[in-house]
Amino acid sequence: WLRKDRLPHIYCTGCGNGTVINCTLAAVEEMGWKRNETVFISGIGCSSRAPGYILTDSLHTTHGRALAFATGVKLARPDFNIVVFTGDGDLAAIGGNHFIHACRRNVDMTVVCMNNLIYGMTGGQGSPTTPPGAFSTTTPYGSSEPAFDLAELAVAAGANYVARWTSYHVKELTKAITAGMQTPGLAFVEVRTQCPTNYGRHNKLRRVSDMIEYLRSHAMLVEKYNRTVAEGRPIPDGTFTVGELVRRSRPAMGARR
Ligand code: SF4
Repeated sequence: WLRKDRLPHIYCTGCGNGTVINCTLAAVEEMGWKRNETVFISGIGCSSRAPGYILTDSLHTTHGRALAFATGVKLARPDFNIVVFTGDGDLAAIGGNHFIHACRRNVDMTVVCMNNLIYGMTGGQGSPTTPPGAFSTTTPYGSSEPAFDLAELAVAAGANYVARWTSYHVKELTKAITAGMQTPGLAFVEVRTQCPTNYGRHNKLRRVSDMIEYLRSHAMLVEKYNRTVAEGRPIPDGTFTVGELVRRSRPAMGARR
């Protein structure tokens, strides 16, 4: 599925986005999807360059609007498999309204969000997921705002499938994306991923290894969170797969396959 003519890629050394693309393509292969029935759609940002590396039809759209374009494609061709690549800025700031309404409508698609806690491509500005106290070009004294919890937001808005892993959890992430693709309705997979160039630089994690170590602490938090949810939170339809926070049986917009 990779476009070899587009390689080498332009991601910075140590970026986590390549891992996420790889896990997503492994899930697509697991699903046995055909190229002429699968469309990758993205907005703007480092994460949104991903469809350009994939050998199939893709739409690289305007900032924050990937879900609106994806909804249109699904309405026109309900038989197509839709995968959206997005980032925390693209999805939760500019595209925040599209995000909650796509979850509410449960449009049948898989949304993979590379959440690196900052705007990478546009220069390191704070995003809606920048943690309180973290530094960015727009929060030089540390962010004073609470951060969005994207997985919880998707659950609250009604998405049928929600999972959160990190680029450190390659196997779990691949399984979670596959499970999302198998679930009718909107499947949202948040991936905490590293941006050594911007998040790392602004938060004194200059070496890639420092950034990976930082991500490891996120990995532990994510695992702890997933365990807590698995043990303590009622799962509406009783199903639970590894990495899955909540899976609900709700009507989905658009028939899949
Ligand atoms: Fe990756 Fe950050 Fe570089 Fe963008 S700026 S390619 S997210 S490391």
